Amino acid sequence: MQTNLMDYNLNELNEIVLSLGESKFRGNQLYNAMLNGKDYEDKINLPKTFLNNLQQKEFFLQPLKIYKTFSSKDNSTKKFLYKLNDDNIVEGVLMSYKFGRTLCISTQVGCKMNCSFCASGLKFTRNLSAGEILGQVVAVNKLLGGTTKKREITNLVLMGSGEPLDNFENVTKFLKMVTDENGFNFSVRNISVSTCGIPSKIEALADLGLNVTLCISLHAPNDTIRKKIMPIAKSYNIESVIESAHYYYTITNRRIIFEYTLIDEVNSSPKHAEQLANLLQGLTCHVNLINLNDVPERGLKGVDDKTRDIFLHTLIKHHISATVRRSLGDDIGGACGQLRSKELKEKTKN
Ligand code: SAH
Repeated sequence: MQTNLMDYNLNELNEIVLSLGESKFRGNQLYNAMLNGKDYEDKINLPKTFLNNLQQKEFFLQPLKIYKTFSSKDNSTKKFLYKLNDDNIVEGVLMSYKFGRTLCISTQVGCKMNCSFCASGLKFTRNLSAGEILGQVVAVNKLLGGTTKKREITNLVLMGSGEPLDNFENVTKFLKMVTDENGFNFSVRNISVSTCGIPSKIEALADLGLNVTLCISLHAPNDTIRKKIMPIAKSYNIESVIESAHYYYTITNRRIIFEYTLIDEVNSSPKHAEQLANLLQGLTCHVNLINLNDVPERGLKGVDDKTRDIFLHTLIKHHISATVRRSLGDDIGGACGQLRSKELKEKTKN
């Protein structure tokens, strides 16, 4: 069976290398080549016989391929389409700020969650493997001229297409790999995992001790509204989501981020803001207000600036830390909830 070496962590690579009768330091070299986006065609600092042996045993070095790049007019944002080995496509977004560069990563091809305002959920195809998730970091870092030692990406957000906690095993393996000090050595402080809120998985993530920043897509102050826009709310009530957030904070000591997309006539009145403030009292958290990016096929609209500001100030008045998230890349379909739908439409047209 063919296996992609990108899916293996350093320990596993070392085992493979030892089982092929090579000395362990070859594992480190292979790991480095892999994280720097090399494939067998490239010049790799390893004996030819060893590389041939790997290929014979059907261990492949297959870095993820970026096959299309789009740049926003102001150049602050780039959107990438990655092609997977089975020809599926996932998207990623790179945002450049004064303090560094943030890469938005996908964890599934499509998504099962089917939130009414989000384009990613239009069709679920499959989970990404740990190596395919890591491959996005490898590909973009390489494109920017970076290496493992001199990384060109500062922050990672798991907010692309997919629900990270619905692909728990591969996502947590990826998180361990990308924070490995022998590899990219990202600090957990610079990694955010965004979830629609699956309480048991939030608790399991806390227990793993990875301590990444947890972002919860709440989008509603009560179950009635949440059920209307997020089908997952039918399985887990809002109380249990908030309880798991308390648990995450207790275990990790990391402030919880709540994402709240303001939707006209759905969740954006001052009353909703008050309800939200009540719900979050006593939890160390921050609310990120997001302007809805229109997804025309879903028929939902964003709010005007005044409605947004009243919502924001109502939260602040009730001592809830809150800000409005700057939207980048909407001219290239790279903003929240816009990923994938356009490409899929184009694919079905052809
Ligand atoms: N499944 C994960 C991560 C993917 S979505 C999650 O639910 O968090 C990343 C963020 O973008 C989520 O907060 C999501 O609710 C938000 N989002 C999705 N569609 C959007 C849209 N059309 N406008 C604004 N934000 C959107």
